[in-house]
Amino acid sequence: MGKVTGFLEIDRQDRRYAPASDRIRHFHEFVIPLSEEATRDQAARCMNCGIPFCHSGCPVNNQIPDWNDLVYKEEWREALRNLHSTNNFPEFTGRVCPAPCEAACTLNLTDTPVTIKTIECAIVDRGWQEGWIVPEPASTRTGKSVGIIGAGPAGLACAQQLARAGHEVHVYERWGKAGGLLRYGIPDFKMEKHLIDRRVAQMEAEGVVFHYNCEVGVSVPPSQLMGRHHALVLAGGAEKSRDLPIPGRDLAGIHFAMDFLPQQNRRVSKEPMPTNSAPPILAGGKHVVVIGGGDTGSDCIGTSVRQGALSVVQLEIMPRPPEKENKLLTWPNWPLKLRTSSSHEEGAEREFSVMTTKFTGSKNGQVEKLHCVRLDDRMQPIAGSEFELRADLVLLAMGFVSPLHEGLLEWLGVAIDKRGNVQADTNDYRASIDKVFACGDMRRGQSLVVWAIREGRQCAHSVDQFLMGTTTLPR
Ligand code: FAD
Repeated sequence: MGKVTGFLEIDRQDRRYAPASDRIRHFHEFVIPLSEEATRDQAARCMNCGIPFCHSGCPVNNQIPDWNDLVYKEEWREALRNLHSTNNFPEFTGRVCPAPCEAACTLNLTDTPVTIKTIECAIVDRGWQEGWIVPEPASTRTGKSVGIIGAGPAGLACAQQLARAGHEVHVYERWGKAGGLLRYGIPDFKMEKHLIDRRVAQMEAEGVVFHYNCEVGVSVPPSQLMGRHHALVLAGGAEKSRDLPIPGRDLAGIHFAMDFLPQQNRRVSKEPMPTNSAPPILAGGKHVVVIGGGDTGSDCIGTSVRQGALSVVQLEIMPRPPEKENKLLTWPNWPLKLRTSSSHEEGAEREFSVMTTKFTGSKNGQVEKLHCVRLDDRMQPIAGSEFELRADLVLLAMGFVSPLHEGLLEWLGVAIDKRGNVQADTNDYRASIDKVFACGDMRRGQSLVVWAIREGRQCAHSVDQFLMGTTTLPR
């Protein structure tokens, strides 16, 4: 532990955002990093508790007190080595993770947790700047080959671990680039995509072979991969969006968030739209209503505001979480308090305990109105509370039900669990078919980037054990 009295002497200080009026003019990241000195001070606040709850609060079990101490002592390169020992991609989690580690921090008892996410991001960003992050190819080859379906964070983490263990690794990805929802769902203002390209280049130099525009079960038969590889990992995510089957759902102007967000991400990256893409969905000059109060909903708000929406309203069916008279009302208090994303500060109105009962539109079939009702504490409609909302564009961001079953999963015939995900437990990540494994959202259902990385790493451990009879890969 660096500074024994650090938490008593130093106030919590976190990264700031560029002013909303500036940042809504572009799609770039807008977080202003702390100075090196301020980061070091924040690391000094870590108490190195006897039982570091942050450790277990973090799904990848980052050794947070250890690297806080190393940052305090200005041993940044060692801090990076430690961070990478549990997390392949800290620059992703350092930007988009809701930081359950901070919720678990002992200092969160007074709403002032250590700024763990900020310190994590500073360590890895510095590592890239200094040129400390280089390919780490395996020194020996095993002669075994693994096919991984899906290049989201789960597939990428699994691929990197297995390549470093000496296996030949092929990643099959439906889209033109790697990253999954990190690239096509999460907007650039939360995480710029060159960060993914940099990791992919590192992985290619470590021997991972990427096959893009390759949808297994559609353009490539799974039988071909089953014959080619000694093990197959299913990391295809959970893509089936939750729908709202109410009257008027088929009016023009009502879209799933995941039809809207990927288009904008492709525009920013100047990546061509896929041939089967919906016509352009744009919020500019429109009254937008976002249905759904999670990360996807927030991303729809930020994107709509940047596209020039006239107004944005976000509807959430759940009650408003409790608020507290405290300046730190944001992520660290998660999951108990109201979550406020940067997008909410950019000009959206939020409504809680609201259910949409129908959409109505113009004669030519364009949506014009949402018909809503307020709900009581038992989530029952309150008589007389009905109201209408104007909308030219409605974005459905109510989460994801499960992976798509058509194509790959049906062809393979893998068992599906009660929630509709690929059945495989976390002891060995093995699906119901010999030599097939599953990880990430495809196995656990809609989740977080940090859980995808954890599952990819743990799955790699199991695949290596299966192929070699033993493994030195961490779980
Ligand atoms: P995915 O990222 O979904 O990747 C799966 C990949 O598999 C995709 O690239 C897909 O094209 C490919 N694939 C699927 N089927 C096939 C096939 N048959 N053949 C070939 N390739 C295939 N999490 C956070 O932690 N923080 C956030 O701020 C956050 N924001 C989010 C915002 C949005 C809009 C969305 C939608 C999600 C967000 N999440 C966030 C959740 C997070 O992105 C996911 O939990 C995570 O990406 C899951 O990783 P994965 O690798 O399991 O799947």
